Amino acid sequence: MPLHLSFRKLRAVGQITIGTGLERGGHMTYIAACGAHNCGWSSDYTTYAAAEIAARGHRCPVR
Ligand SMILES: [Zn+2]
Repeated sequence: MPLHLSFRKLRAVGQITIGTGLERGGHMTYIAACGAHNCGWSSDYTTYAAAEIAARGHRCPVR
């Protein structure tokens, strides 16, 4: 998971948490991260919509 200076949780979609973070350059980014044990999937996006779509489309390899 990338290093962010701050993370604020916005909402959860299934096991995915969507939140906002601040990149090193000071830009706001939207992060979608899977909370499933042993999955560790996370990615960041420039828009909330993109993060939510990614969260809904995530197919967790951990069952
Ligand atoms: Zn997952």
